[in-house]
Amino acid sequence: MINTIDLRDKLSAKGLRVTPQRMRVLEAIYKLNNHPTAENIISYIRKSDPNVGSGTVYNVLETLVEKNLIKKVKTEKDAMRYDGVLENHHHLYCIECDYIEDFVSEKLDGLLKVFFEENQIDNFIIDNIKLNISGNFIIHKNQNH
Ligand SMILES: [Zn+2]
Repeated sequence: MINTIDLRDKLSAKGLRVTPQRMRVLEAIYKLNNHPTAENIISYIRKSDPNVGSGTVYNVLETLVEKNLIKKVKTEKDAMRYDGVLENHHHLYCIECDYIEDFVSEKLDGLLKVFFEENQIDNFIIDNIKLNISGNFIIHKNQNH
């Protein structure tokens, strides 16, 4: 589990000033650990800091994205979500309950790599492949489903 020192280190490693707001937002993303929306993050932080403004949280989120501390994830329902996991991974997206689960498979990554080595796309250099696999979880994992 992430602690205060780790959070500080992550911010300063990116040349960011360590502020309580940045610490709280980053902590919320790691603790929620489920590709939270900005609203999820705001309500999580308000449990301990009822006065935090949503504008502040949005600004911090933008900064953290710019500095590559977190990533944006867009769902099929067009809601922006945030991901604290930076290692390459794919997403399983539940159409019914909007839940996103990380999907990590070296085997799949290997297959994709081989495929695109053998089938190069004209006039395009691949940087990164992230699959968004949509479907339905048989047993739903969203707490409000
Ligand atoms: Zn993810």
